[in-house]
Amino acid sequence: MAASLGVVRIYGTGYLDDCMNIKIGPLAYAVEIIKDLKSDDGRELFGEIDYTPQIIRLEESMTPERSRIALWHEILHGIDQCYCLGLGEQGVATLGMIMAQLLIDNPGLANNDP
Ligand SMILES: [Zn+2]
Repeated sequence: MAASLGVVRIYGTGYLDDCMNIKIGPLAYAVEIIKDLKSDDGRELFGEIDYTPQIIRLEESMTPERSRIALWHEILHGIDQCYCLGLGEQGVATLGMIMAQLLIDNPGLANNDP
């Protein structure tokens, strides 16, 4: 997993300000914004989820649109792992795009005010 040395900040601006901690089932995940986020084998990443310490990491240089999609993608990995859904990478990738677009097209869905 990415070294924490690259942590730029624990939460970002705008959209991510409300997402610095995300509950997935009974588990609270911290969101970290990382400069030059890479996999263990050196591949550039948009995001990753680290289940054991409960951390979601997102690449700093992404646009807000890309960040939203990457965050949904990692949340769905967390849901998949928490509830043993068996979505796999393809299922998570597809649902991540669907959920991000759904919330962009229907902003009222995220409004919890009565
Ligand atoms: Zn993935």
